[in-house]
Amino acid sequence: MRITNLTRLPEPLVSAVSQKREPRPGQISVTELINPPQMRALMLKHWAELTEDASDRIWATMGQLMHKLLEEHARESDEHLIEHTLSSEVEGVTVTGTLDLYHRDGVLTDYKFVSVWTTIDGVKREWEQQLNLYAELLRRHEYPVNRLQIVAIYRDWSKTRAQDASYPQSQVSVFEVPLWSGDEAAKFLEERVRLHRQAESGEFIECTAEERWERSTKYALMKRGRKSAIKLFDKLEEAEAAVTESSHYVETRPGSSIRCDSYCAVSAFCQQRSLALNAAGMKEEELNP
Ligand code: SF4
Repeated sequence: MRITNLTRLPEPLVSAVSQKREPRPGQISVTELINPPQMRALMLKHWAELTEDASDRIWATMGQLMHKLLEEHARESDEHLIEHTLSSEVEGVTVTGTLDLYHRDGVLTDYKFVSVWTTIDGVKREWEQQLNLYAELLRRHEYPVNRLQIVAIYRDWSKTRAQDASYPQSQVSVFEVPLWSGDEAAKFLEERVRLHRQAESGEFIECTAEERWERSTKYALMKRGRKSAIKLFDKLEEAEAAVTESSHYVETRPGSSIRCDSYCAVSAFCQQRSLALNAAGMKEEELNP
Protein backbone atom coordinates (compact mmCIF):
# COMPACT_ATOMS: atom_id res chain seq x y z
CA MET A 1 0.00 0.00 0.00
CA ARG A 2 1.28 3.42 -0.96
CA ILE A 3 0.55 6.45 1.25
CA THR A 4 -0.02 9.63 -0.74
CA ASN A 5 0.29 13.18 0.54
CA LEU A 6 -2.32 15.14 -1.41
CA THR A 7 -2.67 17.86 1.24
CA ARG A 8 1.12 18.44 1.43
CA LEU A 9 1.47 17.63 5.11
CA PRO A 10 4.92 17.97 6.72
CA GLU A 11 7.11 14.90 6.18
CA PRO A 12 7.37 13.83 9.88
CA LEU A 13 3.57 13.78 10.10
CA VAL A 14 3.29 11.71 6.91
CA SER A 15 5.94 9.33 8.21
CA ALA A 16 4.12 8.98 11.57
CA VAL A 17 0.82 8.04 9.95
CA SER A 18 2.33 5.77 7.29
CA GLN A 19 2.75 2.61 9.34
CA LYS A 20 0.30 0.06 8.04
CA ARG A 21 0.24 -3.64 8.78
CA GLU A 22 0.35 -5.75 5.63
CA PRO A 23 -2.05 -8.72 5.68
CA ARG A 24 -0.42 -12.16 5.36
CA PRO A 25 -1.93 -15.42 4.18
CA GLY A 26 -2.24 -18.03 6.94
CA GLN A 27 -2.06 -15.40 9.68
CA ILE A 28 -5.01 -13.38 10.82
CA SER A 29 -5.66 -10.93 13.62
CA VAL A 30 -8.92 -10.69 15.56
CA THR A 31 -9.56 -7.29 13.98
CA GLU A 32 -9.19 -8.81 10.51
CA LEU A 33 -11.38 -11.77 11.49
CA ILE A 34 -14.37 -9.57 12.28
CA ASN A 35 -13.93 -7.64 9.01
CA PRO A 36 -15.62 -8.99 5.86
CA PRO A 37 -13.72 -12.01 4.42
CA GLN A 38 -14.06 -10.59 0.90
CA MET A 39 -12.41 -7.33 2.00
CA ARG A 40 -9.37 -9.11 3.46
CA ALA A 41 -9.07 -11.42 0.43
CA LEU A 42 -9.04 -8.39 -1.90
CA MET A 43 -6.47 -6.69 0.34
CA LEU A 44 -4.19 -9.72 0.12
CA LYS A 45 -4.55 -9.75 -3.66
CA HIS A 46 -4.22 -6.01 -4.36
CA TRP A 47 -2.05 -4.78 -1.46
CA ALA A 48 0.69 -3.38 -3.75
CA GLU A 49 -1.87 -1.44 -5.82
CA LEU A 50 -3.71 0.19 -2.90
CA THR A 51 -3.29 3.85 -1.99
CA GLU A 52 -4.47 5.87 0.98
CA ASP A 53 -3.92 9.53 1.68
CA ALA A 54 -1.99 10.53 4.81
CA SER A 55 -4.74 13.01 5.75
CA ASP A 56 -7.23 10.11 6.01
CA ARG A 57 -5.02 8.32 8.54
CA ILE A 58 -4.78 11.02 11.20
CA TRP A 59 -7.52 9.75 13.53
CA ALA A 60 -6.34 6.14 13.36
CA THR A 61 -2.87 7.35 14.36
CA MET A 62 -4.25 9.46 17.23
CA GLY A 63 -5.85 6.27 18.55
CA GLN A 64 -2.49 4.45 18.34
CA LEU A 65 -0.84 7.35 20.19
CA MET A 66 -3.34 7.13 23.03
CA HIS A 67 -2.78 3.37 23.23
CA LYS A 68 0.98 3.97 23.53
CA LEU A 69 0.48 6.55 26.27
CA LEU A 70 -1.84 4.28 28.24
CA GLU A 71 0.65 1.43 27.86
CA GLU A 72 3.43 3.63 29.28
CA HIS A 73 1.32 4.48 32.31
CA ALA A 74 0.42 0.92 33.19
CA ARG A 75 3.07 -1.58 34.17
CA GLU A 76 2.59 -5.21 33.23
CA SER A 77 2.61 -7.27 36.41
CA ASP A 78 1.30 -10.53 37.81
CA GLU A 79 -2.03 -8.75 38.04
CA HIS A 80 -2.21 -7.25 34.57
CA LEU A 81 -1.56 -7.98 30.93
CA ILE A 82 -1.10 -4.79 28.89
CA GLU A 83 -0.96 -4.58 25.08
CA HIS A 84 -0.31 -8.29 25.27
CA THR A 85 -0.47 -10.44 22.13
CA LEU A 86 -1.91 -13.95 22.30
CA SER A 87 -2.13 -16.43 19.46
CA SER A 88 -3.79 -19.74 18.72
CA GLU A 89 -3.76 -22.18 15.81
CA VAL A 90 -7.23 -22.63 14.34
CA GLU A 91 -7.64 -24.96 11.36
CA GLY A 92 -4.08 -24.32 10.20
CA VAL A 93 -4.36 -20.53 10.56
CA THR A 94 -2.54 -18.51 13.24
CA VAL A 95 -5.04 -16.24 14.94
CA THR A 96 -3.54 -13.35 16.93
CA GLY A 97 -5.07 -10.77 19.20
CA THR A 98 -3.52 -7.88 21.13
CA LEU A 99 -5.38 -7.05 24.34
CA ASP A 100 -5.41 -3.50 25.64
CA LEU A 101 -5.79 -4.46 29.31
CA TYR A 102 -6.58 -7.67 31.16
CA HIS A 103 -6.79 -8.00 34.94
CA ARG A 104 -6.30 -11.38 36.58
CA ASP A 105 -9.66 -11.09 38.26
CA GLY A 106 -11.01 -11.84 34.78
CA VAL A 107 -11.86 -8.35 33.48
CA LEU A 108 -10.89 -7.56 29.91
CA THR A 109 -10.89 -3.89 28.89
CA ASP A 110 -10.62 -2.45 25.40
CA TYR A 111 -10.12 1.25 24.65
CA LYS A 112 -11.89 2.86 21.70
CA PHE A 113 -11.18 6.36 20.40
CA VAL A 114 -14.33 7.29 18.60
CA SER A 115 -16.88 9.89 17.65
CA VAL A 116 -19.81 10.33 20.07
CA TRP A 117 -22.18 9.06 17.38
CA THR A 118 -20.43 5.68 17.22
CA THR A 119 -21.90 4.68 20.59
CA ILE A 120 -25.24 6.45 20.38
CA ASP A 121 -26.98 3.03 20.10
CA GLY A 122 -24.66 1.37 22.65
CA VAL A 123 -21.96 -1.21 21.94
CA LYS A 124 -21.46 -2.02 18.26
CA ARG A 125 -22.01 -5.66 17.28
CA GLU A 126 -18.46 -5.93 15.90
CA TRP A 127 -16.99 -4.73 19.21
CA GLU A 128 -18.93 -7.45 21.00
CA GLN A 129 -17.51 -9.99 18.52
CA GLN A 130 -13.98 -8.60 18.90
CA LEU A 131 -13.97 -8.74 22.71
CA ASN A 132 -15.47 -12.21 22.77
CA LEU A 133 -12.75 -13.43 20.39
CA TYR A 134 -10.11 -11.97 22.73
CA ALA A 135 -11.88 -13.75 25.59
CA GLU A 136 -11.65 -17.01 23.64
CA LEU A 137 -7.90 -16.49 23.09
CA LEU A 138 -7.48 -15.82 26.82
CA ARG A 139 -9.36 -19.01 27.70
CA ARG A 140 -7.15 -20.97 25.30
CA HIS A 141 -4.18 -19.71 27.36
CA GLU A 142 -5.96 -20.60 30.60
CA TYR A 143 -6.79 -17.09 31.72
CA PRO A 144 -10.30 -16.81 33.20
CA VAL A 145 -12.67 -14.21 31.75
CA ASN A 146 -15.61 -12.93 33.81
CA ARG A 147 -16.35 -9.51 32.38
CA LEU A 148 -15.79 -7.52 29.21
CA GLN A 149 -15.85 -3.75 28.99
CA ILE A 150 -15.21 -0.99 26.48
CA VAL A 151 -13.85 2.38 27.54
CA ALA A 152 -14.99 4.76 24.80
CA ILE A 153 -13.01 8.02 24.69
CA TYR A 154 -14.79 10.61 22.56
CA ARG A 155 -12.68 12.68 20.21
CA ASP A 156 -15.50 15.13 19.41
CA TRP A 157 -17.32 15.40 22.75
CA SER A 158 -18.80 18.82 23.48
CA LYS A 159 -19.58 20.12 26.97
CA THR A 160 -22.28 22.41 25.59
CA ARG A 161 -24.15 19.52 24.00
CA ALA A 162 -24.00 17.52 27.23
CA GLN A 163 -26.91 19.66 28.48
CA ASP A 164 -29.01 17.29 26.38
CA ALA A 165 -29.65 14.18 28.52
CA SER A 166 -29.49 11.85 25.49
CA TYR A 167 -25.89 13.01 24.80
CA PRO A 168 -22.94 11.38 26.70
CA GLN A 169 -22.51 13.26 29.95
CA SER A 170 -18.70 13.05 29.97
CA GLN A 171 -15.81 12.67 27.52
CA VAL A 172 -15.45 8.99 28.45
CA SER A 173 -18.09 6.27 28.73
CA VAL A 174 -17.65 2.72 30.03
CA PHE A 175 -19.82 0.05 28.43
CA GLU A 176 -20.37 -3.49 29.65
CA VAL A 177 -20.16 -5.98 26.79
CA PRO A 178 -22.17 -9.25 26.81
CA LEU A 179 -19.88 -12.19 27.55
CA TRP A 180 -20.59 -15.25 25.39
CA SER A 181 -20.23 -18.82 26.60
CA GLY A 182 -16.96 -20.57 25.75
CA ASP A 183 -18.78 -22.82 23.26
CA GLU A 184 -20.41 -19.90 21.47
CA ALA A 185 -17.13 -17.98 21.19
CA ALA A 186 -15.18 -21.06 19.99
CA LYS A 187 -17.84 -21.78 17.35
CA PHE A 188 -17.78 -18.18 16.14
CA LEU A 189 -13.97 -18.19 15.98
CA GLU A 190 -13.90 -21.38 13.90
CA GLU A 191 -16.65 -20.13 11.58
CA ARG A 192 -14.85 -16.82 10.92
CA VAL A 193 -11.57 -18.63 10.20
CA ARG A 194 -13.40 -20.96 7.80
CA LEU A 195 -15.00 -18.04 5.92
CA HIS A 196 -11.69 -16.16 5.65
CA ARG A 197 -9.87 -19.27 4.40
CA GLN A 198 -12.59 -19.78 1.82
CA ALA A 199 -12.33 -16.17 0.61
CA GLU A 200 -8.52 -16.36 0.62
CA SER A 201 -8.65 -19.39 -1.66
CA GLY A 202 -10.60 -17.34 -4.22
CA GLU A 203 -14.14 -18.43 -3.38
CA PHE A 204 -16.40 -15.41 -3.80
CA ILE A 205 -18.10 -14.47 -0.50
CA GLU A 206 -20.37 -11.45 -0.68
CA CYS A 207 -20.26 -8.89 2.09
CA THR A 208 -23.56 -8.87 4.00
CA ALA A 209 -25.72 -5.77 4.41
CA GLU A 210 -24.51 -5.55 8.02
CA GLU A 211 -20.86 -5.76 6.92
CA ARG A 212 -21.44 -3.08 4.27
CA TRP A 213 -23.04 -0.85 6.95
CA GLU A 214 -26.06 -0.60 4.72
CA ARG A 215 -28.54 2.18 5.26
CA SER A 216 -31.85 1.37 3.60
CA THR A 217 -33.88 3.76 1.43
CA LYS A 218 -36.22 5.97 3.44
CA TYR A 219 -39.26 7.98 2.39
CA ALA A 220 -39.57 11.33 4.11
CA LEU A 221 -42.88 13.07 4.64
CA MET A 222 -42.01 16.74 4.00
CA LYS A 223 -43.87 20.05 4.28
CA ARG A 224 -43.14 22.97 1.98
CA GLY A 225 -41.18 25.68 3.81
CA ARG A 226 -39.75 23.22 6.38
CA LYS A 227 -36.26 21.71 5.97
CA SER A 228 -36.49 18.60 8.13
CA ALA A 229 -38.81 15.64 7.59
CA ILE A 230 -42.06 15.41 9.54
CA LYS A 231 -41.63 11.63 9.64
CA LEU A 232 -39.53 8.96 7.95
CA PHE A 233 -41.06 5.79 6.50
CA ASP A 234 -39.56 2.52 5.27
CA LYS A 235 -42.23 2.10 2.58
CA LEU A 236 -43.27 4.55 -0.14
CA GLU A 237 -46.99 3.60 0.19
CA GLU A 238 -46.94 4.39 3.92
CA ALA A 239 -45.36 7.80 3.29
CA GLU A 240 -47.88 8.58 0.53
CA ALA A 241 -50.77 7.58 2.78
CA ALA A 242 -49.52 10.14 5.35
CA VAL A 243 -49.87 13.05 2.86
CA THR A 244 -52.92 14.82 4.27
CA GLU A 245 -52.30 18.47 3.29
CA SER A 246 -51.60 20.13 -0.09
CA SER A 247 -48.27 21.41 1.31
CA HIS A 248 -47.11 17.87 2.05
CA TYR A 249 -44.93 15.90 -0.33
CA VAL A 250 -42.76 12.75 -0.18
CA GLU A 251 -38.99 12.86 -0.65
CA THR A 252 -37.04 9.67 -1.42
CA ARG A 253 -33.76 9.35 0.47
CA PRO A 254 -31.83 6.61 -1.35
CA GLY A 255 -30.07 4.02 0.79
CA SER A 256 -26.33 3.45 0.66
CA SER A 257 -23.60 1.11 1.79
CA ILE A 258 -21.56 3.40 3.99
CA ARG A 259 -18.54 1.13 4.30
CA CYS A 260 -18.34 0.60 0.52
CA ASP A 261 -18.79 4.34 -0.14
CA SER A 262 -16.23 5.68 2.30
CA TYR A 263 -14.47 3.12 4.46
CA CYS A 264 -13.30 0.24 2.29
CA ALA A 265 -9.76 0.45 0.91
CA VAL A 266 -10.45 -2.20 -1.76
CA SER A 267 -13.74 -0.83 -3.14
CA ALA A 268 -12.08 -0.08 -6.52
CA PHE A 269 -11.31 -3.81 -6.91
CA CYS A 270 -14.62 -5.16 -5.64
CA GLN A 271 -16.94 -6.85 -8.14
CA GLN A 272 -19.86 -6.82 -5.70
CA ARG A 273 -19.47 -3.06 -5.38
CA SER A 274 -19.26 -2.45 -9.12
CA LEU A 275 -22.35 -4.63 -9.76
CA ALA A 276 -24.26 -2.70 -7.06
CA LEU A 277 -23.24 0.64 -8.61
CA ASN A 278 -24.32 -0.52 -12.08
CA ALA A 279 -27.68 -1.70 -10.72
CA ALA A 280 -28.16 1.63 -8.89
CA GLY A 281 -27.29 3.53 -12.10
CA MET A 282 -29.86 1.53 -14.06
CA LYS A 283 -32.51 2.18 -11.41
CA GLU A 284 -31.72 5.90 -11.51
CA GLU A 285 -32.08 5.88 -15.33
CA GLU A 286 -35.46 4.15 -15.06
CA LEU A 287 -36.66 6.79 -12.59
CA ASN A 288 -35.22 9.76 -14.54
CA PRO A 289 -35.03 8.67 -18.20
S1 SF4 B 1 -16.56 -2.47 -1.35
FE1 SF4 B 1 -18.23 -3.10 0.00
S2 SF4 B 1 -18.86 -5.08 -0.79
FE2 SF4 B 1 -16.78 -4.69 -1.58
S3 SF4 B 1 -15.34 -5.59 -0.12
FE3 SF4 B 1 -15.62 -3.46 0.45
S4 SF4 B 1 -17.28 -3.52 1.99
FE4 SF4 B 1 -17.36 -5.46 0.86
